[in-house]
Amino acid sequence: MNKIGTTVAAISTPPGKGGVALIRVSGPEAIEIVSRCVVLRSGKPLCSLPARQAAYGDVIFEGAPIDDVIVTLFRAPHSYTGEDTAEISCHGGILLTKTVLTALLAAGAEQAGPGEFTRRALLSGRLSLTEAEAIGCLLEAGSTAQIRLSAAPARTELARALGELHDRLLSLLSTLYAKIDYPDEDLADLTDEEIIGHLTAIFDRMQMLRKTYRTGHAINEGIPTVLCGRPNVGKSSLYNRLAGEELAIVTELAGTTRDVLSTTLPLGSVMLRLFDTAGLREASDPVEQIGVSRSRARIEECELLLAVLDASQPLSDEDRAWLEELKGYGKPVILLLNKSDLPRAIQPDALSTFPHVLPVSAATGEGLDTLTALVEQLFTDETLRVGEEAILSSARQYAALSRAQEHLATSLSAFSAGLPADAAASDLELALGAMAELDGRAVNEEIIADIFKRFCVGK
Ligand code: GDP
Repeated sequence: MNKIGTTVAAISTPPGKGGVALIRVSGPEAIEIVSRCVVLRSGKPLCSLPARQAAYGDVIFEGAPIDDVIVTLFRAPHSYTGEDTAEISCHGGILLTKTVLTALLAAGAEQAGPGEFTRRALLSGRLSLTEAEAIGCLLEAGSTAQIRLSAAPARTELARALGELHDRLLSLLSTLYAKIDYPDEDLADLTDEEIIGHLTAIFDRMQMLRKTYRTGHAINEGIPTVLCGRPNVGKSSLYNRLAGEELAIVTELAGTTRDVLSTTLPLGSVMLRLFDTAGLREASDPVEQIGVSRSRARIEECELLLAVLDASQPLSDEDRAWLEELKGYGKPVILLLNKSDLPRAIQPDALSTFPHVLPVSAATGEGLDTLTALVEQLFTDETLRVGEEAILSSARQYAALSRAQEHLATSLSAFSAGLPADAAASDLELALGAMAELDGRAVNEEIIADIFKRFCVGK
């Protein structure tokens, strides 16, 4: 990653041949560097071009024009990065685009690293960390709900809600300091009861926001789900049916044996991180035993179990045994009675202790809408307006807000118990620190590096 104060350039469109490619240049010398490579057809100097106005020109490389392009300038601080920025739209040839970039690098720009433009936006205060995270999610989104959760209205609303909590904490902290520093003077603008009231209101607001994470997690990170059942009940068929045809499926086969296959797919408004396992039968051969123990490990980690049975077959003792075992994990189990298009032979009374039993058919698609609705009902708060309200969407955000809330609770009980204001103030400071880490005011290089390593070059 380049130092702030340098000027960086990168191709922002994906590598490959296309109608148009976009190259971005950002930094204090952006306009100067681009004017060394681009001559406007109007004959006017590039620096005279008003901000956000597209102009037609030619890119000059080694003394000769190589492409006619559109250039747009954004002047600091009114740009994505908060720095002077130029965007060049050229024809989308692979070598051509690289040559335009080469011309810019030769004119003094440095190659931007992954996510560097967004990182600069964060460091210049144009974006909060949660907004930067949302932009990363937007690039990876696999469902419309995930797009809504990360789109500008929702990410701005979350940033606003967190900023407001931060500012309210800060203002209470200064009130507490006034009490500490001038105990005999009545400088504090709030009474003790009022301070307790404000701290409690902030605590309650944090609690509400923390609750949104359940929904944000299901939509954004996905629900780790195990699909289990014995061979031939139709797990792979269900898996394929749920994944649909048009999806880019990330599938991996771990180990040498048939054990855990994984994919991420949208199911209604949520994402499932689906692991297809071999089931939990008693295995005699050692290779199969490894598969079964991996299945158990997956079940320990997952949040939802989809147990598949073949409804056209009677339950066997082995089925009864693993169904009993599944209950012991204490996770939501949805029993899918697959092959419901065939005459039913399974004994439904044997399943009466399971709250969620759905007849489905991988062959016809029957029952899958009911499955979708049930999973949404179990894992999201359907009263939340996704895309409008502030919703936490990552484990990092949830952990930081939980830390802030814990410190606030300690501060509140110290203050309510009539302990010296110093005790309440030091915990409030810790709460404020956690909030600052949450929205990126307190820059933690490790967290920032972790977030931006997932970005592509050019964003
Ligand atoms: P797995 O071993 O559990 O992954 O099962 P498969 O998905 O490979 O399916 C086993 C067999 O059952 C295949 O011949 C499928 O075509 C068939 N099958 C799967 N689902 C259904 C279904 O819903 N209805 C019917 N009639 N056959 C199905």
